[in-house]
Amino acid sequence: MKKAAKQLREIPAVNELLMRPAIAALIAECGREYVTARVREVLDAVRAEIASGDRPPPKEELETRVATAVRAGLEPSLRQVINATGVILHTNLGRAPLSETAVKAVAHAGRRYTNLEYDLGTGRRGKRDVHAATLLQQLLGVPAIVVNNNAAAVLLALHALAVGGEVIVSRGELVEIGGSFRIPDVMMASGAVLREVGTTNRTRLADYQRAISKGTRLLLSVHRSNFRIVGFTERPGLADLAKLAKRSRVPLLEDLGSGCLFDLRPYGIADEPLVQDSLRAGVDLVTFSGDKLLGGPQCGILAGRPSLVERIRKNPLFRALRVDKMTYAALGATLRSYLSKRLDDLPVARMIRMSKEEITTRALAFVAVGKMGGHGLRLELTDGESVIGGGSTPGQSLPTTLVAVTSPRSSAKELEHRFRCCNPPVVVRVENQRVLLDLRTVSHEEEVLLLTVLESLKGS
Ligand SMILES: *Cc1c(COP(=O)(O)O)cnc(C)c1O
Repeated sequence: MKKAAKQLREIPAVNELLMRPAIAALIAECGREYVTARVREVLDAVRAEIASGDRPPPKEELETRVATAVRAGLEPSLRQVINATGVILHTNLGRAPLSETAVKAVAHAGRRYTNLEYDLGTGRRGKRDVHAATLLQQLLGVPAIVVNNNAAAVLLALHALAVGGEVIVSRGELVEIGGSFRIPDVMMASGAVLREVGTTNRTRLADYQRAISKGTRLLLSVHRSNFRIVGFTERPGLADLAKLAKRSRVPLLEDLGSGCLFDLRPYGIADEPLVQDSLRAGVDLVTFSGDKLLGGPQCGILAGRPSLVERIRKNPLFRALRVDKMTYAALGATLRSYLSKRLDDLPVARMIRMSKEEITTRALAFVAVGKMGGHGLRLELTDGESVIGGGSTPGQSLPTTLVAVTSPRSSAKELEHRFRCCNPPVVVRVENQRVLLDLRTVSHEEEVLLLTVLESLKGS
């Protein structure tokens, strides 16, 4: 104990450290207040180490630790990672990467003043929604508005159209989507009352019909975007539900989730409904995400019958959930890629459309170059599957060719950890004691980085 007390007294005072030339240089660069706070943190940590029996570090090491803390604290927390999982819309990795034109549009709008809410024709205040409305009208044939995400779109629609009234939902659609979006909870927050009908596996049109009363404000259909119910199941077709809604003079709202605007069937993905299909089936209002299959920025889109969209845009919650100029810039660029049929501008569409042959060719070249490195890892090709993910196309996958990485020294779990701690971090899959890399979600530029990362794993 006495020894520790003596060692504690030997630790330099904050001011003493601040006057040392290396720290003074940091102060000149990053400011006194910020550096002082890091010095205090380092000294607190050293005191804790001494209390638990460690020796006090030499002064030079203290300086290095302060310099490291000063630099680390100014590094962005949001970093590039290489997604080698083959999950195209990985919610934890930020879903859709934007197209080059969308990125340019964001930089352009971010840097300057814009006509965000300024009508250049009249010189008066304008509406920010015009920046997406025209494009969405051209693509979908109905008016639409944009909010912060699809969860916000559902919340806003329920609140604006059904507060204080009942919303009828099938028990088979009371879903939870990743990241705590639960239909019953959103319903509660919106002020609408959930009226459940049917059972988990079977709900008939008659169940909806019986539940409709004077208090009914909406019928809600929720796309089962991240799971499937198989076996003894039944649910009415969307068109039949729409007919019932029309007869009963109650609007039908569909939470589509993914918001796919192009047909995925040529790529072997069935069952992913298009936004256009829902509207054609007679749904009054659809909501979907901007950063799932659409391949744009995070946002939620509400599209449908003009009178309903207008009611929603007049609701005060719309103001609270609105998006900024950079979202409009990115969404606008993304939608223009659809309008001009330049689907390959969009990374998500490109990754979905990439054939197994193309991936195999890339993987072969990758392994050939990778094997020349001195990292001592074993690289081999193996068949596998990529998934779209992000709450879409559950149970379906795209055939791919994976690069399996194994090490004579480390387990797959250890290797996975090393990949994750590289710069840039690489997120991989681990299956059957092997690390698997799927180049479908790795861009050409990232492939080069990935080869450097392999080199840095030397000795792993
Ligand atoms: C993804 C999804 C949501 C949530 O959308 P966010 O854009 O993440 O808010 C809601 N409903 C369904 C059916 C979804 O697939």
